[in-house]
Order: sequence, then structure tokens, then C-alpha cells
Amino acid sequence: MRTLDARAMDLAARDRELRAALFRFVDVVPACRSLDDVARHLRGFLEELSDAPQPIAAAMRISDVRAARAALGAAAAAGVKHMAHRFIVGETPASASRVLRSLWDHGVASSVDLLGEATVTETEADVYAARCAEALERIAGESARWPARPMLERDGVGALPRANVSVKISALTPLLRADAPERGKRDAAARLRPLLARARELGAHLHIDMESLDSREAVVELVLEVLAEPEFSSGPSAGMVLQAYLRDSPELLGQILDWTRLVDRIPPMTVRLVKGAYWDHELVEARQQGWPAPVFEVKADCDRNFEALTRALLDARPDVRVAVASHNLRSVSHAIAYNRLSGGQDRDLEVQVLRGLGDELQDALAARGFRVRTYCPVGDLVAGMAYLVRRLLENTSNESFLHEQASGVALEDLLAAP
Ligand SMILES: Cc1cc2nc3c(=O)[nH]c(=O)nc-3n(C[C@H](O)[C@H](O)[C@H](O)COP(=O)(O)OP(=O)(O)OC[C@H]3O[C@@H](n4cnc5c(N)ncnc54)[C@H](O)[C@@H]3O)c2cc1C
Repeated sequence: MRTLDARAMDLAARDRELRAALFRFVDVVPACRSLDDVARHLRGFLEELSDAPQPIAAAMRISDVRAARAALGAAAAAGVKHMAHRFIVGETPASASRVLRSLWDHGVASSVDLLGEATVTETEADVYAARCAEALERIAGESARWPARPMLERDGVGALPRANVSVKISALTPLLRADAPERGKRDAAARLRPLLARARELGAHLHIDMESLDSREAVVELVLEVLAEPEFSSGPSAGMVLQAYLRDSPELLGQILDWTRLVDRIPPMTVRLVKGAYWDHELVEARQQGWPAPVFEVKADCDRNFEALTRALLDARPDVRVAVASHNLRSVSHAIAYNRLSGGQDRDLEVQVLRGLGDELQDALAARGFRVRTYCPVGDLVAGMAYLVRRLLENTSNESFLHEQASGVALEDLLAAP
């Protein structure tokens, strides 16, 4: 299955038209009502290709026959499910428990992400908040029975929660709008506060993900304002995300560090440094509106900024806890090397990876005694579609580290300074 996966990703990476057709197909699969329906959609999207690769042209030929179409539909639906299962650990926190426990047994911590984003009704937002609360309770309860893993449970600052849940603000309110951030903030805060209170009672960590730029101002202000409230001055452990692909990310880091110095809060905020998952979206939106691109357009510029932010974050400890989230061996090695060079201990740096993209890196780092946390999405295929498409984009982008590594680029080149 791995080889098949790799071949499919490779085909998609080499052909933009095919990639677009496949993404459109993946997007409609959960809404298809029969295998015939699946096959007809697949055929419909692929027919638009000017030059279909050989295996795809063959699949289209057989789809003229009804029985063959059902078989093609079954194979295609199974393919999409298989791809999704690579990135999504289970439909519910209960069904994901086995994976979380197995990761822990292999020396790997986790953060559970309840799939779902951009809710459009208050009811949806309430349901998402309830799912997050349930996940916190279940994981806190189960992880209490896990065996001791000192590297995963303590750093230089103190204890690290075993239960860790990541949430998206766009799922906590249907009112998040760039042109009216206050309304979205107020509505999301009403659902975020009870989650923070529950996490504190359970001794769990709550991490707030960062999404596209149009919601950043609201998310940053919301997190910094709510965490500064007296109720949360002694917990829970909480964190936010810094996206290095944004040209103004150094200023945002400055704002976060100023906040940590002003707000007397224990434990310190965890900052997860990522490059950013909405690169294509930000670029297209800016072009559409005639705005200057808010993201770096040269990959090496983004990578250099990631390294500069890594150093600034590591230098800012113990005001912050640092989590470097990347599948790029160079970015991760740089963080480990700078941490050691600047006198830090390995336990004071966390490396984070995504389930299904960073599995090998996760195993290699855990085997060498580093603290790795794997981000584990939980939910059904419909809720997971936007997430799945972002992961497929990442995997098939010609500029991604993972693609370069899979295409056989030499290790010295992969590790070269950006
Ligand atoms: C644990 C974890 C949590 C995450 N949480 C979030 C989150 O909350 N919010 C979020 O946005 N992302 C999040 N991400 C996703 C993350 O942004 C992507 O996985 C990451 O960008 C991939 O970077 P890399 O270092 O692994 O790979 P690399 O291949 O080194 O970098 C790929 C990244 O570089 C950037 N890029 C690509 N092409 C160009 C170009 N031409 N010019 C400039 N930059 C370019 C893009 O950001 C792209 O994703 C998370 C990732 C992990 C591992």
C-alpha cells in the first residue's frame, strides 16, 4: 500500500491538471451515494485531462461498462479511504485510543485534533466544543493509566500533561470574519473558556491551531486576552501557533514575547512553530484581490525565516516552551543543533510531526531520545476533507521537503542551509 501511495502521489506531483482533478474527486467522494456515483464522478473529472497518464486512461476505458464501473467506484472509494486513514487515526476519540496508547508505548506523545473547521451555525459550534470536552475527558482518563515515560512528561520547566488536544477557533464560532473580528472573538471565547477550565481541572494541555490569515488577528487577540484572565493564571497548560511563511511573523513573535513578559502565568505558553498550511490559499487570495502576497514566495526565504524564528524562540525560554513542527530534516536538525549550541537540553525542545507524514521522522527521533509529539486528527471523512486535501497538497508540492526526499535528492543537499 505504501508503494502504491507513493506512486499515486508521484503521478499527482508531476501533473498539475491531474492533481487538480484528483483533489476535486477526493472532495466529492464522501457525498457520493453509490459506487456507480463514485465512478461517474471520477470519470467526469478525469475526462477533462488533456493527456491522461496510462493507468488512468485504462481505468476510464473500463468505466463504460456498468459492472466495471461499480468495481472502479469501489477501488476509487477504497483508495480515498485508505489515503484518509493514513492521516486520520480514528472516527472518535474512543476508536483513536489504541493508536495513542501505542504511540506512547513507543516513546511518542500525541496531540488529538478533532476534525472540523469553519462551522456555519451555532449548533455546529456547540457540537464541536462538546466533542473537544469529551476528548479531553477521555484522553485524560485513559492516559492516567499509561506507564511512566519521563522524557515525555517533564522538561526543565516542570510537568508536561499527557493529554493534549488541539482546537480550531473557526470551529468554535460561526462568526469569525476578518472585517468584524470582535464578534467572532466574543462568540468563540464563550466556548473556549469552559474548555480551558476543563483542561485545567483534568491537568490537560489545550493548543489553539492557527488557520488562514483572515482569522489570525481574531485568534491571536482571543488567545492572548483569555489566557491573561485571572481565572487562567495558574493553568491550564496552553499553546498557540506561529506561521513562519508569513512575512510579518517576526513581529507576531515579538507581540507574543511581550505578552509573556507582561502576563504572570504558569505554566509558560507553548509556541508551536510551523511554516504554514494555507500557502496556496494565501497566495491565490492575495492575487485575486490585488494585494501584495503576505507569505514568502521563495521557499528558501520561508525556510530561513523558520530558522531565525527557531533561534528567537529557543532564546526566549523559559518565558515560552518551544515546539518545532516540521517534517524537514534540515529545519529539525537546525533546531536541535541550535538548542545544544546555546546550552539548552534536549528535553527543553519538542519536535512535532503530523500523523501519516512524519511517521519515519517520529520513530527516528524517538529512538534517539528526543521528545516527539504526533498530531493525530480524529473524525469522519466528511469532517476531514479539508484536512486531507491540505495534506495531499503538502505531499504533492514539488517544493516540499518530503517530495524532494522521496525523489532521491542527496542527503547533503537536503541538509544544506536554505
Ligand atoms: C504538529 C503540527 C501541527 C501543525 N499545526 C499547524 C497549524 O496550526 N497551522 C498551520 O498553518 N499549519 C500547521 N501545521 C502544518 C504545517 O504548516 C505544514 O506541515 C508545514 O508547513 C510543512 O512544512 P515542513 O517544514 O514539514 O516542510 P517543508 O517542505 O520544508 O515546507 C513546506 C512548507 O513551506 C512553505 N512553502 C512551500 N512553497 C513555498 C514557496 N514557494 N515559498 C515560500 N514558502 C513555501 C509552505 O508553508 C509549505 O507548507 C502543523 C504541522 C505539524 C507537524
